[in-house]
Amino acid sequence: LSFDYPRNVRFLCNKCAICCGDTEERDRSILLLRIEAKRTAQKTQKATGEFAEKIEGSEPYVYRMKKTRDGKCVFLKDSRCSIYDIRPLICRFYPFQLKKVGSRELVFAYTNKCLGIGKGPRLKRSFFEKLFKESARIMAEDTGKDLSE
Ligand code: SF4
Ligand code: SF4
Repeated sequence: LSFDYPRNVRFLCNKCAICCGDTEERDRSILLLRIEAKRTAQKTQKATGEFAEKIEGSEPYVYRMKKTRDGKCVFLKDSRCSIYDIRPLICRFYPFQLKKVGSRELVFAYTNKCLGIGKGPRLKRSFFEKLFKESARIMAEDTGKDLSE
């Protein structure tokens, strides 16, 4: 598998936590792989149904994180992620997302809704490579297949 990435994009997360919930403009959908839901349940000692709901049609994602009444992720506490070490891939990727182009190539896209876009250093290939490898590793754990082959 190969991937392409945006050249000349700057990014520095300011920890505003806007990506951890809904805004007036859009609903944030925080999707989880099966393995991510399982790990979150183990780590938090909660039943999966307490923090996520089952979904269909978004495979490999099979759960959606629940939100509080004010539209925030249930794990956002005092503007911080309370499961940071095991947060879902979707959260690790934000504001980036891997999109499939054609049959083989994957391209990193990003959203300008993130306040960190345009700030900080210009991102190098190594930044995207790290995300890509992390994604391949977790997907492989989730499916039991080595996607790097
Ligand atoms: S919206 Fe962007 S800047 Fe704010 S916490 Fe999320 S990734 Fe960081
Ligand atoms: S899991 Fe953590 S990083 Fe992801 S949306 Fe919830 S609070 Fe934010």
